[in-house]
Amino acid sequence: MKPDKKNMYLLAAITIFLSLLLIFTGCSPEDSDSDPDGDNSDSYETDVLVVGSGAAGLAAAITAGQEGARVILMEKLPAVGGTAVLSSGMLYAAESPVQERQGITESAGDLYDFWMNASEGKADSELVKVIADLSGDTVRWFQEDIGVEYSIHDDYGPRMHFPDQEAGDIVERLKAKADDVGVKIILGTRAKKLILSQEGEVTGVEGENASGNKVTIQAEAVILATGGFERNEKLIDEYTPLAAEGITGVSQGNSGDGLVMAREAGAEIITHNSYVGSVNDEGKAVIMSTVGGPRIDSGAHVLDMEGEFIKGLYAAGSVANGQFFYKKYPDSGSSLVYCFTMGRIAGSNAAQEIKVP
Ligand SMILES: Cc1cc2nc3c(=O)[nH]c(=O)nc-3n(C[C@H](O)[C@H](O)[C@H](O)COP(=O)(O)OP(=O)(O)OC[C@H]3O[C@@H](n4cnc5c(N)ncnc54)[C@H](O)[C@@H]3O)c2cc1C
Repeated sequence: MKPDKKNMYLLAAITIFLSLLLIFTGCSPEDSDSDPDGDNSDSYETDVLVVGSGAAGLAAAITAGQEGARVILMEKLPAVGGTAVLSSGMLYAAESPVQERQGITESAGDLYDFWMNASEGKADSELVKVIADLSGDTVRWFQEDIGVEYSIHDDYGPRMHFPDQEAGDIVERLKAKADDVGVKIILGTRAKKLILSQEGEVTGVEGENASGNKVTIQAEAVILATGGFERNEKLIDEYTPLAAEGITGVSQGNSGDGLVMAREAGAEIITHNSYVGSVNDEGKAVIMSTVGGPRIDSGAHVLDMEGEFIKGLYAAGSVANGQFFYKKYPDSGSSLVYCFTMGRIAGSNAAQEIKVP
């Protein structure tokens, strides 16, 4: 039978509409136990829940998925990418395959020294060492697993890795990889509160979707990757008064929710009244990232006031960068490599540790 042109167009239009709807919502209705109590609430259950889909969140979700965990990635905005999608995508790294290819000898030890000096020796040396040691491997991960290539240009020093793609394309590839490894992405849904067991272990998150309906996600492990608190005046006043008059171009979603949720769960908060950014001609702080958040160890475990792991709770990226940065931003590319690398660590540890009774 000869296809009817009018019907073909109609069918194509319907298909495109449905595909767009799926990309926009990121999650099909049958993925959730919708309306279990007849009160318009949604509930989900998973192994690893990642909150926030920027640099750290995407890396964490992909890695946990690669390790075989069932993963949900929840994002309060209608699209993935956070500030990462607005960035230039440069990575600062040592001992990478790109350096090897270009005949550049840069040791992880030198990078460690550079970052420790930039922090006046105040950064967490164990954490900095882990990031320096793994920075080159994060470049490799991007090349081999995500499909992003980098190069180093003489004028910018031997550690600055420039991507061959725009940040938007890099995020597209990260999202495609997340889909590939089975990560369920729930967009337009804000995490509001951690669910704690009687023993104080984190067992999930309560949130709200764009329609104002309650969303409950039970999880064996929760990774906070909510970015900084650049868009929360109250938290800026409390932790970074130096930037109180500041302006910022980061993701609209970065309002410090992760810091607040971790604080409510008993995490110790580390801040230094400093920020990553610059001062403009009018003397205003231009904030690229806040500095500070819950204390973590080098395995991305969130620690309480006694230095104990709050079981089930992990944090990665700018939400918890107070032990990596101090007063001064070391160099461009340091933030993203920290966020991606810490995201990979959090995803891997969360996936591995839920298997341990
Ligand atoms: C213009 C610009 C250029 C930059 N270029 C570079 C660069 O080239 N190299 C470099 O190293 N750094 C760069 N940076 C900094 C870098 O982009 C950020 O440090 C990095 O993206 C932070 O990653 P993240 O995952 O911690 O947070 P983000 O990427 O900001 O992602 C956080 C995500 O969490 C979501 N979220 C927040 N709260 C909730 C909640 N309650 N529930 C669900 N989701 C939530 C947010 O909506 C957001 O999507 C740049 C920054 C800017 C502004």
